[in-house]
Order: sequence, then C-alpha cells, then structure tokens
Amino acid sequence: MVRSPAFLLLAFALLGSVALCVSRSDADPNTVKLIAPSVWFREGDMEQGHCNNIIIEMKDYLIVVDANYPSGAKAAMADAKRVSTKPVKYVFDTHHHGDHLYGNPIWSAVGATTIAFKQVGEELKRFEPARWQNAAKNRPDVAELNRDGPEPPKQDINEPVYVLNDGSRKVEFRHFGWAHTRGDGFVYLPKEQVLCSGDAAVNGPYNYTADANIGNWPAVLQAAEKLKVKYVLPGHGVPGGRELLTGQAQFMSELYKAVKAGVDQGKKVEELQASVKLPASVGTWVKENSLKNQVKDAFEEIKQGKPRGELGQ
Ligand SMILES: [Zn+2]
Repeated sequence: MVRSPAFLLLAFALLGSVALCVSRSDADPNTVKLIAPSVWFREGDMEQGHCNNIIIEMKDYLIVVDANYPSGAKAAMADAKRVSTKPVKYVFDTHHHGDHLYGNPIWSAVGATTIAFKQVGEELKRFEPARWQNAAKNRPDVAELNRDGPEPPKQDINEPVYVLNDGSRKVEFRHFGWAHTRGDGFVYLPKEQVLCSGDAAVNGPYNYTADANIGNWPAVLQAAEKLKVKYVLPGHGVPGGRELLTGQAQFMSELYKAVKAGVDQGKKVEELQASVKLPASVGTWVKENSLKNQVKDAFEEIKQGKPRGELGQ
C-alpha cells in the first residue's frame, strides 16, 4: 500500500492521541517477551489483524502456536529466527479463523508441520473457501498466495489430549469442547504452568461469537481452570494470569444470562441490543459495538436452541 508522507504524519498524530487516551496500554505490538525459560510471547499487530504467537523451544526444534495471517506468519518466523537457531517443526492452529490459520502455507514452505484438533479441518470444510476468497479482496498478503482457499492443517489430533515430550519439555495440546469455535485448542506447559488459550480466552474486547457455542463457553474455561496455570497467553491482547480464564468465563455467563432473561420476557433482539448492560467486573471484555453483535449471536443461539456456530452466517 502506497501512502503519502502527509498521510503518515496524520496517522502518527492520531496514534499519539489514541495512545494518550487508551489506559489499557501495556499493549506492545510486534514485540517478543520471554514468559518462561525458552517460551516467548509475540504480541500481534492488531492494525494488521494479526493474532498473538507463542514460540516454544524444544531440544532440537521450535513449536509455534498459531499460524497467523500470512504477513503475521512472516513476522513471527523472523522473530523465531531471532530468538533461536532451531527450525520450526510444528505450528499449532488453535482454531480455523483466518487470523490464526491462513498463514499455514508460509510455515509449510519452510518444512514445518501444521497441526490442529480435527474439528478445525471440519470447520474449514463448512466455511471455506468463501471466507478465504473474501479475505483475499481486502488483504494483499492472502491474495498474493494465489490459492483458491486455505491450506488445512497437515496433521489432525483425534483425541482430547496430545502430548509432545522430548525429555527437555512436555507440551500438551488440549481440547475441552466448543467455546469460541468447535475446534478450540489450548497448549499447556505443565512444568512452566503456561496456558496458551487461543481465542477461547482473550484479554480485551476481542470476542467474536458467530462461530461460537456461547452457552458452553464457560464450561470449557472451567475445564481449563482445573489445570495449574500461572500465565495465560491469549490469542489477542496482552498476557495475564488465571484471571483471564475466570473473567472471560464470567463475561460469557453474564452475556448469556442477560440475553436469556430478555428472551424469556419476549423482548426483540433490537431491544436487547439497546438495553443489555453487563457488570463492571467484566468491563475488560466489553465494547459497545461488539457487544451488540454478541447480544445478537446469543439471542439467535437461545431462540433456536442450537450453538450460534451451528446456524450458519
Ligand atoms: Zn478466532
């Protein structure tokens, strides 16, 4: 994209003023932070739609959590090379969304194996290639791969827990059921007590609920909470602790409860979109416009008695 210097000056001026009024501004996009010995968190650049990545060093290779968009994959790959000379052997797609998986071909091209729970591939069959083709209209990084659709993960996980243990470190890939998407995968490091949560737990108002099972979401997080967890590394937003799991679960419970109460009173979706207010305790996850979409998704899920993600777009 070609931009004039005047545009850039304006953009910087705007960024400056935004930075002043955003208080949740421990955000530090495109930086890499060490979380535990040889476990790095790379904060995605939201301006480019990128998700976060986690780089985990094993004895002879690296594991990367999430493929990201293609441009995010390239950025994460460059940073992986910076922190370690070992090759990336596995890239775990936490779910089927483009910002977590469309970069798969970038990783495959350097010999990494993309891996995900089997429901991720199944969701790709349901939703693609329509979403890819849509993304290619707005995203040069997707368009320039010249593909008809996304590259599915090369390896499926068919059981709820899959373990990699090379003696130096144990890494568990876990599926607790349907929350953000049907194939939601977590990565857990038991010794380091690190949990990579994908978009099943995010840190901020970044919840997209159209493919979700909103009613089941808290149960998934409560299952994850049974693990010994010190650090939660979310798909979007900055790292946190266990409070990200409990807070996100509470947000989904409050959303569901408020919308259910309205449905029981015979209210219309527009009325609920205008009136639903969630408690301040879940304020981290609330933003007006996205809340309207989340209320609509919860409304449809409750009305039709099926997970929102089952209902199509
Ligand atoms: Zn997602």
